[in-house]
Amino acid sequence: MNTDSHIEILVVGAGVAGISSAYYLCTRYAKASVLLVDSRQAMSFTSAQSGDNYRNWWPHPTMASFTNDSIDLMDELARESSNVFNMTRRGYVLATREDDVDELVTDLYTGYRDAEADDIRVHTVASGRGYTAPESEDWSTAPRGVDVLSDTRLIKNTFPSLSKDIKNILHIRRAGDISGQQMGQYMLGEIKSAGGRRLTGTVRGIESGQPFLVDVECADGVQRIAADIVVNAAGPFAGHIAGMLDIDLPIKNIYQQKIAFEDKLGAVPRQLPFSIDLDPVEFGWSDEEREFLKDDSETSWLLGDLPGGAHCRPDGGDNGNWVKLGWAFNHEASSAQDDLANETRMHPMYPEIVMRAAKRLNPSLTQYVDDFPTRFSHYGGYYPMTRENWPLIGPMGIDGAFITGALSGFGSMSACGAGALCAAWIVDGDLPNYAEQLSLARYANPKLMTELSNASSTGVL
Ligand SMILES: Cc1cc2nc3c(=O)[nH]c(=O)nc-3n(C[C@H](O)[C@H](O)[C@H](O)COP(=O)(O)OP(=O)(O)OC[C@H]3O[C@@H](n4cnc5c(N)ncnc54)[C@H](O)[C@@H]3O)c2cc1C
Repeated sequence: MNTDSHIEILVVGAGVAGISSAYYLCTRYAKASVLLVDSRQAMSFTSAQSGDNYRNWWPHPTMASFTNDSIDLMDELARESSNVFNMTRRGYVLATREDDVDELVTDLYTGYRDAEADDIRVHTVASGRGYTAPESEDWSTAPRGVDVLSDTRLIKNTFPSLSKDIKNILHIRRAGDISGQQMGQYMLGEIKSAGGRRLTGTVRGIESGQPFLVDVECADGVQRIAADIVVNAAGPFAGHIAGMLDIDLPIKNIYQQKIAFEDKLGAVPRQLPFSIDLDPVEFGWSDEEREFLKDDSETSWLLGDLPGGAHCRPDGGDNGNWVKLGWAFNHEASSAQDDLANETRMHPMYPEIVMRAAKRLNPSLTQYVDDFPTRFSHYGGYYPMTRENWPLIGPMGIDGAFITGALSGFGSMSACGAGALCAAWIVDGDLPNYAEQLSLARYANPKLMTELSNASSTGVL
């Protein structure tokens, strides 16, 4: 087959990871010969399912530094685009009924290490160190660091809608939400202005060599494109693309779901930050409900020990009336299906399950348990994950092949950091000190891998 064109860098996948990689190649490193290939509309697969939340809170300082850098880049984009992607910063509220949060606070110091350790402020009844509640959603005026609220009166006054049995709150301040779609569109516009191009088509095969020969099936037939560099940003299909180059990636896809609903009853205050219930879920089923659930393997797990992590946030700004709920309880890997709307793992009871889980922290949601919102959407997508829940960014194992992938449930918040990092690897630019750790090279570092496999949390939300 003849080669139809020759380009320098071909990026497979126009989700947020591929777009961001192309964006930094085109804008920061002035690469013009960049082709972004996707079989779908840009930002329409996993990137369309994102909760669009971001945070710099992680159990390990490497991930904290990586997401901090990514948030720095989002700040830059917000400044230069007049915040076209509606970045807000009301923080993340992590709530628990536990009296003793020493372990959680120790974990905070571990995660932030030097970066923001000075900015961990503990507010007890006695100390009362000045705490500023997030009155505004403005990202540019939000404080840094973390406020630990251990004064129940302060908690009740600041977050009156939360359950009255909450004893402690960790309020992560460098956190909030964005419109990932708008951010992607903004970067696509800049890529176009810088000379980058897009092609709608499916990558069917890649022949290794200098250059790579990439077969792309388009509406009018197969194009064979020669590319000096290939970037694998295929999201849940990254393993498939790597397989074309005989590379086996340590990535599994875990399906996770969310709901969004119209909060007609105004149950969730519009100013509520993204709020997470850290405590294990107890549903308090009635005897009758237990009887009903126990006989079906699809539902019997609901009677067992269930992890914390159910979360809730208002969606659509102060004047909107939609709310998003999520709870990433699935741990079983599955192969990615092409049609997310008809994913066979979409649990028909998920909307009810997540509403019940979220009402423990947000009791006003109780009214929706028996009278479910009429307008809601139930959707989901894959977290492509490594076992340690760290991304894979950088060289993919053979010369000229790179990856921006395994972005799990943190790909929207880390896209800018991941794209900039992948671009730096490609052009041999300056790399941050965590670059190797976030690449495949970490698997040759037994000390790090042992540390990660012994960690009590991987930061999945
Ligand atoms: C339910 C859910 C909630 C989430 N919430 C958050 C959140 O709150 N915050 C956060 O930061 N992250 C969140 N995430 C994660 C985030 O959405 C993802 O990490 C991110 O969107 C991944 O982007 P991507 O570009 O890697 O993948 P994708 O968006 O899936 O893009 C990959 C693209 O590659 C294309 N492709 C694949 N194979 C081929 C091929 N052979 N030829 C051509 N094109 C191909 C696909 O068509 C697709 O468009 C969430 C994810 C889910 C599922």
